[in-house]
Amino acid sequence: MNHPTPHAALARRPLPPALRDALQAGFGDRFSTSAGVCEHHGRDESPFPPALPDGVVFAHSTGEVAEVARLCNQYSVPLIPYGAGSSLEGHLLAVAGGISLDLSQMNKVLAIQPEDLTVTVQPGVTRKQLNQEIKDTGLFFPIDPGADASLGGMCATRASGTNAVRYGTMRENVLALTVVTADGRVIRTGTHARKSSAGYDLTRLFIGSEGTLGIITEVTVRLYPQPEAISAAVCAFPSMSSAVQAVIQTIQLGVPIARVEFVDALAIRAINRHDSLTLPEMPHLFFEFHGTEAGVREQAETVQQITAEHGGQDFEWATRPEDRSRLWNARHTAYFAMLQLKPGCRAVTTDVCVPISRLADCVAETEKDLVASSLPCPIVGHVGDGNFHVAILVDPDKPEEMAEAEDINRRIVERALSMGGTCTGEHGVGLHKMDFLVREHGEDALDLMRVIKHALDPNGILNPGKIFRAVRGPAG
Ligand SMILES: Cc1cc2nc3c(=O)[nH]c(=O)nc-3n(C[C@H](O)[C@H](O)[C@H](O)COP(=O)(O)OP(=O)(O)OC[C@H]3O[C@@H](n4cnc5c(N)ncnc54)[C@H](O)[C@@H]3O)c2cc1C
Repeated sequence: MNHPTPHAALARRPLPPALRDALQAGFGDRFSTSAGVCEHHGRDESPFPPALPDGVVFAHSTGEVAEVARLCNQYSVPLIPYGAGSSLEGHLLAVAGGISLDLSQMNKVLAIQPEDLTVTVQPGVTRKQLNQEIKDTGLFFPIDPGADASLGGMCATRASGTNAVRYGTMRENVLALTVVTADGRVIRTGTHARKSSAGYDLTRLFIGSEGTLGIITEVTVRLYPQPEAISAAVCAFPSMSSAVQAVIQTIQLGVPIARVEFVDALAIRAINRHDSLTLPEMPHLFFEFHGTEAGVREQAETVQQITAEHGGQDFEWATRPEDRSRLWNARHTAYFAMLQLKPGCRAVTTDVCVPISRLADCVAETEKDLVASSLPCPIVGHVGDGNFHVAILVDPDKPEEMAEAEDINRRIVERALSMGGTCTGEHGVGLHKMDFLVREHGEDALDLMRVIKHALDPNGILNPGKIFRAVRGPAG
């Protein structure tokens, strides 16, 4: 038996025949109701069982997206934008059925503006594709979730990754959007200027809205010059807390480090097996430094001194580009490596983020808590931001394992909230973090979110049942 979806499915009704006919007429074989296609679009990377849409449309333009929105709005049918399908919290599950709108074929880089350090793309462009296509400009786009996510999906989840400590998250790096509203209007938010005080910041409203307020069809993001020098290193520590203390001191001293990632001993074991590395099975920090040759040297020397003070072993350097990519590739695929620690498992992934001053306490208390767990719980983290993930490895067919994982997750979130942190640093709310939002924001703030949702989507068609319940309830 699969563990049930964390929130009961909403009422479903079959697709109105007139809508089906209109989609068939408008999209031909780019509208599919086949079981395989619906199955693929009714799941994500979470451990929750799929909840299938009734049909999938593959859009090719903003005009087509607007047409689908108008039709779904006319018939009050749920509409769920779909990017690369890599979200982790049940975001894509069609809990009320409806249409999944797949944007992956809208994958053109529309305009590169190297002199402004910006690029405009369609939402289906993935982060790796973007960096490949702009390689020759000497610029790069730094935001790198572990999966090869789409820029539209990354906007919608307010994603970040290993580079956020230096370059920020999607919140800081999106300048402008084209958005299709629930009733099919096309609006533009923001401009290509680096800053603006012109009215409410609608761009930021859509960043992190998880497909519940509008469908993003164009994105303009900031780019950065490829650094003159890059060097990467790994360093082993006697304990998690000594590694975390080293990171906190590095950040508090203002060292402009590009990446600093924590990987615990169990995650190192997984990575070693998966990527044929031979790192000692101890807690590690992975570092990357960007800048001029002299700047990188200076940053590295400062960080080496800090790590030595906290019991860190010698730095193991990866200076050649191929060694650096091997190291960071291992970090990026850590999630899949960790899944192999328990064959057939799925991961309940925690995602708390706390103020940097509370990170050591939060990690230490979490480590103590996990000792009693019967489940493997490797930990990795973007610790420079105060954000870490426990991958709680469960057999989703064993309710007792799912219950234990949810208990651990709840305790971690409560701990982070009590320290002034958040239940989700980067993955978003989806279905899985809904119950924590009242605790984090309060009922009145959630009511305000409902007012915004209702104003933008009065028929409640856009990704229904996500982020919060439509009406105030015991758990929000
Ligand atoms: C191995 C692994 C590692 C990961 N590491 C990170 C990490 O380091 N940092 C991080 O932030 N996340 C990480 N994630 C989570 C995931 O990659 C991000 O949430 C990503 O931003 C999702 O993008 P996507 O294109 O896959 O979106 P999808 O999963 O397709 O969709 C996610 C949400 O966005 C909405 N959406 C998608 N496209 C649009 C659009 N064009 N307009 C409006 N709404 C839209 C969907 O309706 C859904 O609610 C990781 C996931 C995996 C599997």
